[in-house]
Amino acid sequence: MFILSEDSERTSGEDAQQSNITAGKAISEAVRTTLGPRGMDKMLVSDAGDVVITNDGATILDEMDIEHPAADMIVDVAQTQEDEIGDGTTTAAIIAGQLLAQAENLFEDDVHATTVVEGYHEAAELAHDAVDEMTLDVDVDDELLINVAESSMTGKGTGGVTAESLAQTVVGAVSHISSDEGVERDNITLQTQVGGSSSETELIQGIALDEEAVHETMPDAVENADIGLLDVELGVQAGDVDAEYSIENIDQLNAAMDAEESELKETAQSIVDSGVDVLFNSEEIDDRVASLLANEGVLAFDSLSDSDIRGIASATGARRVGALEDFESEEFGHADSIRTEAFADDELVFIEGGAAAESVTVLVRGGTEHVVDELERTLRDAVDVVSSAAETGSIVPGAGATEIAIAAHIRSEAAGISGRKQLAVEAFADAIDTVPRTLAENAGLDAIDSLVELRGDHDDNGRAGLIVDGQFREVGDPVEHGVVDPAAVKHEAIESATEAATMIARIDDVIAAE
Ligand code: ADP
Ligand code: MG
Repeated sequence: MFILSEDSERTSGEDAQQSNITAGKAISEAVRTTLGPRGMDKMLVSDAGDVVITNDGATILDEMDIEHPAADMIVDVAQTQEDEIGDGTTTAAIIAGQLLAQAENLFEDDVHATTVVEGYHEAAELAHDAVDEMTLDVDVDDELLINVAESSMTGKGTGGVTAESLAQTVVGAVSHISSDEGVERDNITLQTQVGGSSSETELIQGIALDEEAVHETMPDAVENADIGLLDVELGVQAGDVDAEYSIENIDQLNAAMDAEESELKETAQSIVDSGVDVLFNSEEIDDRVASLLANEGVLAFDSLSDSDIRGIASATGARRVGALEDFESEEFGHADSIRTEAFADDELVFIEGGAAAESVTVLVRGGTEHVVDELERTLRDAVDVVSSAAETGSIVPGAGATEIAIAAHIRSEAAGISGRKQLAVEAFADAIDTVPRTLAENAGLDAIDSLVELRGDHDDNGRAGLIVDGQFREVGDPVEHGVVDPAAVKHEAIESATEAATMIARIDDVIAAE
């Protein structure tokens, strides 16, 4: 009797386990060379020939065309890490893969899957305790936040700009949108602009939009600007255009043209009379109206998207107006300065200061699209981790020190756990060791020697990381070298890696519909 359709494929027992574990391990192998300051980049080429060059774990796994269901779950681990914290994706994927590799050994030693799962969950609790234990007892000030930003950027493509200056930009942005109520992460926008050098990446205290003035003789900068938002087409009223003129002689033609002309003039005049300095319109502005506005020194933009208009409204306090007769000063918003600037192929408008100052924009610059895209990913991670560190105020030493402490704590507690579960708990510690081990390997050091040295130093000093900077390598206190990560990165990595690995380890039957 068949209970499955003939088209479905079934693998069970050890084969299923084996295949899932192999797939999961393969995924974490794929990203491990990118970990840390000496991590390498990957070049990913799609079927269509699109190229992405990146060091970002989540991006690599996302771009890879992964079909295996278990491997897909490891990709989800990286994605969850990216969504929840924004950094630590490689770490999470490596730990998940190693937990699976360790599970394989445990299965070979006849430790049952449910014992492995229990042991892993117990070890994960110990790991969280160890992270709490390692959390620095300090006020998280700008200097520490700069360290957090820099350490999240090490090994990433930053083009021709130093991590330090980018870190300052990021911390500047986050401080700007932080208050007693917390960090309004949504008020930071990253705007990419190809052209120029990555060192021109800068913080705008306001917003930047990809827009060009409707007339080239309009002012390219307005200080102390009153800003109006309109949802009205500024041209000849549609009704007039459609009406049939029966024009029989030149006088009638002139009269019709005059009527049109004076209507346009009236429209432009009512804008000018409102006293507005800068106009953003979601609808079109006729060239002739544009030219009249330009003559009066009004700066105007048309055909803005709804979301851009809403962005300007929330940044400047301006209210949208749906009829020309309601367009008056009490509806206007305000900014210290509005300026337009031309880049390679585009023109951007910057709205800065005043009411606009609640939002900030990091203008990401770089010579080519690849540079700008990778720089944007790097900065996005940095903004996320700095926001998380600023909000929670919890920071742990980086460079493997926290992982060394986690593994030590788990091993010391494992002694008190009876039965085979002890083996699973110890295996969890071995999996965590992969982080400092990989940092060492990627820095060209012997992994075993480094682990031994790190453990010894940890036992003596309570805090030991493998600090890597250019050609410099040293086992020491990462905090002294400014290598720190948000505690949330570690907590989330432990949680999502354990979840995925235990879920995969429990599977002994794969039934796939063809
Ligand atoms: P992830 O995707 O997991 O964030 P990264 O490639 O960003 O991977 O590497 C992060 C790891 O590199 C963290 O463990 C962090 O502490 C470590 N790290 C950052 N800077 C340094 C440094 N200068 N020396 C050693 N390790 C560092
Ligand atoms: Mg990182």
